[in-house]
Amino acid sequence: MKEYLKSHKLDHVSYDVRGPVPEEAARMEEQGIRILKLNIGNPAPFGLTAPEEIIHDMIMNLPDAEGYSDSKGLFSARKAIMQYHQLKGLPNLDIRHIYTGNGASEMISMSMQGLIDNGDEILVPSPDYPLWTACITLSGGKAVHYRLDEASDWNPDVEDIRRKVTDRTKAIVIINPNNPTGALYPKDVLEKIVQIAREHELILFSDEIYDRLVMDGAEHVSIASLAPDVCCITINGLSKSHRIAGFRVGWMVISGRKDHVKDYIAGLNILSSMRLCSNVPAQMIVQTALGGYQSSEELLVPGGRIYEQREITDRMVNEIPGLSEVRPKAAFYSFPKLDTEKFGITDDEQFCLDLLHEKRVLLVPGKGFHYPTPDHFRIVYLPRVEVLKEALHALGEFLDGYRQH
Ligand code: PLP
Repeated sequence: MKEYLKSHKLDHVSYDVRGPVPEEAARMEEQGIRILKLNIGNPAPFGLTAPEEIIHDMIMNLPDAEGYSDSKGLFSARKAIMQYHQLKGLPNLDIRHIYTGNGASEMISMSMQGLIDNGDEILVPSPDYPLWTACITLSGGKAVHYRLDEASDWNPDVEDIRRKVTDRTKAIVIINPNNPTGALYPKDVLEKIVQIAREHELILFSDEIYDRLVMDGAEHVSIASLAPDVCCITINGLSKSHRIAGFRVGWMVISGRKDHVKDYIAGLNILSSMRLCSNVPAQMIVQTALGGYQSSEELLVPGGRIYEQREITDRMVNEIPGLSEVRPKAAFYSFPKLDTEKFGITDDEQFCLDLLHEKRVLLVPGKGFHYPTPDHFRIVYLPRVEVLKEALHALGEFLDGYRQH
């Protein structure tokens, strides 16, 4: 992979499964060393498993899931997706403009492949979920990173977005709730982003895979609900909310204004039929998953696992001298800041390697999320409280006296 990226001049593209830190962790594991993994947003291995009803539904439907479905997906699944987003206020929905995919990942990839001509620019957050930058680059486009502002709860820096729009810009991507920061964007910030898209006729992409994992009684607002006159593509899926990342089920929904994107939609239809269809057994559970009782809610309130894991992470991180973090509001990530002067840190990847070697704790450096300065890393707080305590205690011990230079 590294060689491929290099030979295609793509070695600036990072993806969090690549790079020396996870490779070194895998090597250590092969030697029988136990690693405390705080690096991957995959709930099931941490005992956050799928609701029984979902598994039961899939078993019941399996005998009928042998064939290909319509390339955009089963009517029943797409109807349920449509109703879900209607209830969230998305305007001008049409079942013909709803596609199921093998995870949100496939939708991100397909939506960029269909959109980008060589040299087109797409505005993407920094830090980002790195798949976005990778898909833009692999489609021949240029990911132009705009700033998420730590001092303002990690909200997008709207002025930075505005400054970076050029005549090559085609779209703005937001990730809300955000990976890796755990931020949830307020309505007024979303409205300002819509205004930029409106003024420059840009498409808005909103990755909302964590929209059902919001804490503290806050409400998730879909940017598309604020933009009836802008073409919006909302991407979502069940990997996180229903803890079934391995089943591979996601979708994308086109809403709002569509008259100027007819060719793009035609391209998406071709790309959709080229892969025949997405995983059919997984499509069969979408209706059950999105309707009725939502088991994830129990995890997000005091006493619930995700809530309590956030609490312990936030408290322990902020107690470590030289570390601070903005309290995450959603998803299961935090993106702490290192005092680089105190620790003499110039390379965040080296910091993660040193921690891995000394304490056997695996984290992803900010670099993995196209963050420009070497002073951040991501914590995935999916492990149980006891494991998080052990890992964060080890992190505190490691940083006590750490000097990179
Ligand atoms: N988007 C974001 C922001 C994510 O964090 C992830 C997975 O971590 C994905 C998309 C991919 O999700 P899926 O499993 O549906 O492909």
